[in-house]
Amino acid sequence: MFIFEHVSLKQYNTFAVDFKADYFFKCRNEAELKRFLKHPKYKNLPLMIIGGGSNLLFTRNFRGVVLKLDTPGIEKIKETDTDVFLKVAAGEKWDKFTAYCVGKNYGGIENLSLIPGTVGAAPIQNIGAYGVEVKDTIHEVLAIEMKTGKEQKFTNAECQFAYRSSIFKKEAKDKFLITSVIFKLSKNPVFNLEYGALKHELETVVNVDIKAVREAIIKIRNSKLPLPEVLPNVGSFFKNPTVSGKKFSDLSKAFPELVNYPAEDGKIKLAAAQLIELCELKGKREGAVGIHAQQSLVIVNYADATGNEILDFSKYVQKTVSEKFGLDLEREVIVI
Ligand SMILES: Cc1cc2nc3c(=O)[nH]c(=O)nc-3n(C[C@H](O)[C@H](O)[C@H](O)COP(=O)(O)OP(=O)(O)OC[C@H]3O[C@@H](n4cnc5c(N)ncnc54)[C@H](O)[C@@H]3O)c2cc1C
Repeated sequence: MFIFEHVSLKQYNTFAVDFKADYFFKCRNEAELKRFLKHPKYKNLPLMIIGGGSNLLFTRNFRGVVLKLDTPGIEKIKETDTDVFLKVAAGEKWDKFTAYCVGKNYGGIENLSLIPGTVGAAPIQNIGAYGVEVKDTIHEVLAIEMKTGKEQKFTNAECQFAYRSSIFKKEAKDKFLITSVIFKLSKNPVFNLEYGALKHELETVVNVDIKAVREAIIKIRNSKLPLPEVLPNVGSFFKNPTVSGKKFSDLSKAFPELVNYPAEDGKIKLAAAQLIELCELKGKREGAVGIHAQQSLVIVNYADATGNEILDFSKYVQKTVSEKFGLDLEREVIVI
């Protein structure tokens, strides 16, 4: 078990901001993890878990231990005529797992292909893309309570999944270390092809199978999203806001072009990207930070911006949108 001191986190977050952790531990298996959690030197220090660092914005050094989970592993634990149950270690790379399922014709997560990060982080914000959310395939989440070291199982219902949210972003925030996730996937996949760009991409494909869906998603994502290795970013910085019917009716009088979708509890979801575009912020740049020229939801670190420069820029975007539309854009990224 190697625990390093004063480690730069630059290579461990896709915004590539350069803060340090007092201690840094790359954990490769559960036995190592359990030993670490009991270690007298570290067990009372603040602890932060990271996976791929693709949904984080550091704005300060971390005074404690940053624990990077690097625990791979996919295990089939049950199979019925229709479904397969896979237990996947938290440190497994999300897209490697997606590719594995596509290769076996296990359906449910093919639309989530190419999302960066790890399996353990997927339930945290209930990752979603192209009409699919991971909540529909999660059977259980296995975790360890950080304070007590006690193992705990969360059923799907107990995870309280919602749009880019779960119990792990609310009352259980920073309290549990997710060690593995149990997925229930279909052996007879039914594809969700409702999303416009996906439907369009597959129009000319004669036999739409699970591989064709994954390939289409990869093609769309590669054409739209900047690669963090080239332009550091965390994907969508903001969530799509939801508003009441009355608010939407008022807004659409002034802005009839507003894209809208039905949301939970009779509310209406708006497209944050369009709101940002209507504020003429697409491609806007302030020093080393800016909004990507093709993707209004993506804030980019163009050249060694600090976490606080990125945060200040995001607040400027929120303020501009609030002044024009009278609504608040909520951050999707987790700010440390
Ligand atoms: C180019 C790009 C595209 C993206 N596209 C999408 C998209 O389409 N849809 C989408 O939903 N997201 C998207 N994201 C965001 C991101 O990839 C996901 O949120 C992903 O699940 C984060 O995984 P991670 O391992 O990098 O988590 P990290 O960023 O390392 O951590 C995120 C949060 O989860 C916590 N955490 C991580 N692992 C654990 C664990 N095992 N136990 C307890 N807590 C943990 C961390 O403490 C932190 O609070 C995108 C990001 C990028 C850079």
